Amino acid sequence: MEKHGDGFHRLVLVPYLLQGHVTPLLQLGTILHSRGFSITVAHTKSYSPDTSSHPDFVFLPLPLDESMPSIHNNSVDFVTVITSLNSSCRVSLQELLIEMIQKQEQHERLPCIIYDSLMYSTKEVVHHLKLPSIMFDTSCATFMRVCPEIQKPGYSSFQDTSSAIVFNSSDCLERPSLTQLRQIYKVPILPIGPLHKLAPAASSSTTSSLIEEDKSCIAWLDKQTKNSVIYVSLGSIASLDEKELTEMAWGLANSKQPFLWVLRPGSVHGSEAIALFSNDFKENIGERGYIVKWAPQKQVLAHKAVGGFWSHCGWNSTIESISEGVPMICRPFFGDQNIKTRYISHVWRVGIELENDLQGEEIERAIRRLMVENEGEEMRQRAADLKQQLEISIQKGGPSYDSLNELVELIMSV
Ligand code: UDP
Repeated sequence: MEKHGDGFHRLVLVPYLLQGHVTPLLQLGTILHSRGFSITVAHTKSYSPDTSSHPDFVFLPLPLDESMPSIHNNSVDFVTVITSLNSSCRVSLQELLIEMIQKQEQHERLPCIIYDSLMYSTKEVVHHLKLPSIMFDTSCATFMRVCPEIQKPGYSSFQDTSSAIVFNSSDCLERPSLTQLRQIYKVPILPIGPLHKLAPAASSSTTSSLIEEDKSCIAWLDKQTKNSVIYVSLGSIASLDEKELTEMAWGLANSKQPFLWVLRPGSVHGSEAIALFSNDFKENIGERGYIVKWAPQKQVLAHKAVGGFWSHCGWNSTIESISEGVPMICRPFFGDQNIKTRYISHVWRVGIELENDLQGEEIERAIRRLMVENEGEEMRQRAADLKQQLEISIQKGGPSYDSLNELVELIMSV
């Protein structure tokens, strides 16, 4: 364990069980570990990250009620899953923290808890144990500004217990929303992003992927020309029906652009996606299309062959795309993805929204607008400008860099 200041300082991370939530919190943990903190991850037992990728972290599983519904079960709604998970975890988290405190050496400080806003039962536990805590929100700051508290149970009364709220964002991306949040809430609002770019270089090869990455697509990308490939991924939760899959497939095929498409297991309701493709489709695309179950996305977006990203507009995918200056085709599915789509298409103007039901012709047209026409080139220019602003943001004296320092000082002072 490393030493920080006048005693060991342990941070306990409490992630929510989805890919888009685990990844940024572990990135924040990696950054804080490089600043001298020791990191413990209290994660739900049912869905654990690859611990070998983070050899310096301690992973402690939280036992869960066996009957907990899964988020990947389409018949169960999101709020039910979150509510059950929170009530199931509360006691085990409390027991884990009590045991940790009892085992502490005298010179050690009390642990500071950094929890995902969806793990809102953590608030009750830290309040009861009088522990310092920080809330981490994995979405954009704008969603928090526009979303009424009632829809996000984690936000209510967080000011009573949390010392700050951290976002994987930057002032250069969401200044108006961040300014408003700072006026509304009485705790520091700290946009520290892009986290994957702030993490120490040595950690860039580690992954927090919950599905095995198929790296063979990089060799395929190496054979493609600059900015020619459209990368297609709808994240770790969104799913399609068979008709939507067929429209997507023919839209991609008829666009005549090379494409790299992620079709993870479960991404088509009730079917194995690849088995649904006709021979006709396979012959049409030949070597022009490459399909994988899970890609090393950050590496893909940084590849010079990738000129566009068709995304569901999850926040991680959005910030990863902008960080590499890649413009987007937006196809949101639910919740905060609609807000990000609006930002991408109307505020930053680095993407095109697919608005109606998925239709092959509309898809083909959007791909050509983004990948071939002047309109797409202008978006690529604006995306390159945003990329540059983000690079400045994480350098010494930049807003994300300063927010990170503020977080470190705050943790040391609580
Ligand atoms: N991702 C990946 N490989 C893939 C698809 C996605 O590594 O083939 C990662 C992606 O880089 C991102 C995360 O999965 O960090 C998805 O998070 P996001 O917030 O974009 O969407 P969610 O899955 O939460 O809907």
